[in-house]
Amino acid sequence: MRHRTWKSLAALCGALLIAGTGQSLAAAPVSGSLARPAPEAPVRPLFPIAGQTVVLDPGHNGGGAAHTDEINAQVPDGRGGTKPCNTTGTSGDDGYTEHEFNWDVAQRVRDLLSARGYQVIMSRDSDTGVGPCVNDRGTLGNRVGAAAVVSIHADGAPAGAHGFHVAYSSPALNDAQSGPSVQLATTLRDTMVGAGLATSTYVGSDGLNPRADLAGLNFSERPTALVECGNMRDPGDAAVIESPDGRARFAQVIATAVAAYLG
Ligand code: ZN
Repeated sequence: MRHRTWKSLAALCGALLIAGTGQSLAAAPVSGSLARPAPEAPVRPLFPIAGQTVVLDPGHNGGGAAHTDEINAQVPDGRGGTKPCNTTGTSGDDGYTEHEFNWDVAQRVRDLLSARGYQVIMSRDSDTGVGPCVNDRGTLGNRVGAAAVVSIHADGAPAGAHGFHVAYSSPALNDAQSGPSVQLATTLRDTMVGAGLATSTYVGSDGLNPRADLAGLNFSERPTALVECGNMRDPGDAAVIESPDGRARFAQVIATAVAAYLG
């Protein structure tokens, strides 16, 4: 998808569908820019390829805290070891929970990407359930043939530490992890910085954080990254995380980054 030429895009037009309508692009009004792109303009598809799937993984789940036996069960970690099925996630000092934040932002990203024509699959369908376990989250993108997978989280670090970071699997365990996942993570980082969001002051480097311990990343054979939007224990970050406008801002920038990566 990343280096499609105009000719190959045109050849694919017959197969394109305008998502949500089932309408063939060939039967739709064709804009002048679609018919005659400027010679020097970068070529970008106006619609994603039909069937292009994005997996969103809102971290944790609202029922986890009441089902500790289930979420503490050991599952494969993707590197030969085991780790708990899930954790409850963190929370702000006022009790606003990470799972609620993750779910809210993921729904917003889903709506934005769906409106752009992507097929979006979520790792959970509510904020009241238990799981799925991290190993199942990690293989979801493989099972549905995702073009990109984004896990959405917020962090819990000491007050004063602030900013976002984007994690990816490292050392890479397959081709998707060695290149495309790093590219997806970098695109997310760059788009977030471009939107005025500050990179983490306390973990990673320049907003990127390669990690070997996250099963959700280790198991993936698709381009996958995990966004920690900010530190819920920092007053400045928490003010953004806990406001609807802030969550809309995170969602907009994540959706923009995914579309940029896939474009
Ligand atoms: Zn989390």
